[in-house]
Amino acid sequence: MALRSRMRFVHWSLTIDPDKGEAVYAAACVTCDDASEPSADKRSPEQWCLRHAGRTGHMGFLATITSHFRATPLEGPGPP
Ligand SMILES: [Zn+2]
Repeated sequence: MALRSRMRFVHWSLTIDPDKGEAVYAAACVTCDDASEPSADKRSPEQWCLRHAGRTGHMGFLATITSHFRATPLEGPGPP
């Protein structure tokens, strides 16, 4: 017996979630795992990297930008 299913495709839009605030920037040293404080201003972790490099000689960093997305159906029913 064959199973039948009916699928309906809905187009979605992905945007920055305005309820979750601004993006958060941070950096971490890949040599010693020290890390900057999270900041809404990307210059703050960048400056932390330069100070850390000057103080320790460590030159590799992992930069992260964290932001929240929200998916919104463009038509038809929303999520189940
Ligand atoms: Zn380091």
